[in-house]
Amino acid sequence: MGLKEVLVLFTMDCEAYVSDRRLSERSIRGYVDTIEAYGFPTTLFVHPEVAARHRELLLELQDQGACLGLHLHPKWFGDGRYRKEIGAYSASEQRKMIKEAMDVWRRALGQNPLYFRGGVFSANDNTFRVLQELGFKGGSLSCPGRVLPEFYSVWAGAEPYPHRAHLNFRLVKGDSDFVEVPISVDFQRPGEAHIYPGRAPTQGYEWLYIAERRFYNYEKVLRHLLERFRRDSPNYPTIVTDTHNNEDYSNRENPARLNLESVLRLLESLCEEAGVKPVGSTLSHICNMVLSENGEKSEVRQRP
Ligand SMILES: [Zn+2]
Repeated sequence: MGLKEVLVLFTMDCEAYVSDRRLSERSIRGYVDTIEAYGFPTTLFVHPEVAARHRELLLELQDQGACLGLHLHPKWFGDGRYRKEIGAYSASEQRKMIKEAMDVWRRALGQNPLYFRGGVFSANDNTFRVLQELGFKGGSLSCPGRVLPEFYSVWAGAEPYPHRAHLNFRLVKGDSDFVEVPISVDFQRPGEAHIYPGRAPTQGYEWLYIAERRFYNYEKVLRHLLERFRRDSPNYPTIVTDTHNNEDYSNRENPARLNLESVLRLLESLCEEAGVKPVGSTLSHICNMVLSENGEKSEVRQRP
């Protein structure tokens, strides 16, 4: 069976550290509108304070089809009691801090968050279990190949396609009801670089980080992803991008906006060249697909 369709998931992490409220709004709205003009929806992971700050905008975008999730850097949340990223903490500490973040998010948006991404893709082997216990349906927590121990973010050897999470070991597929949708990385292009100025380069692979093309060749990454999907024939071939709310995507001249347009155009042309259809997707959509398909499979297995 050949590859006929690829799922496309555009994500943004909406950070509280972006203190310019107007810039943050222009960034979020411009990102969603630009992507929508190409026919794709977006998934926004929103830090609790940002949910409160941009309540109306976020609810309006949700009405238009955006999927909203929770984003959390414990060290930037609340009273500063937590100094590190999520992966540094025990299950009970994670439960407590994520619950506190959920409460703020819920009060702001009038609904429970169902989808999650930790800051810096930080997580440990407690995280998926804690998220499932707290009622989350899925997340995009992993960046396969990333080795960044100083931020408690290590994903060497992680499963690269959407899957049910394993609740005891974060790197492999499991049978839980929590769906993990990894960032898509190009295993042929090692050397993810410099996400934090002045710090040691991250070890990992190039990916579709929209705001920064100096270190990433979007065309090669997209080509290699499509080739890998064809080789691997995964159940859910998915292209997952990321960016932040600190670039003015509403400004057509902004370099990040130009990057975004470039990724969108490449996606169209390279998919056409490869004879596959790009299908816009949200985290909610992918979670529903993974949960319903695996359910059918286990039913089939039970028949004599
Ligand atoms: Zn973040």
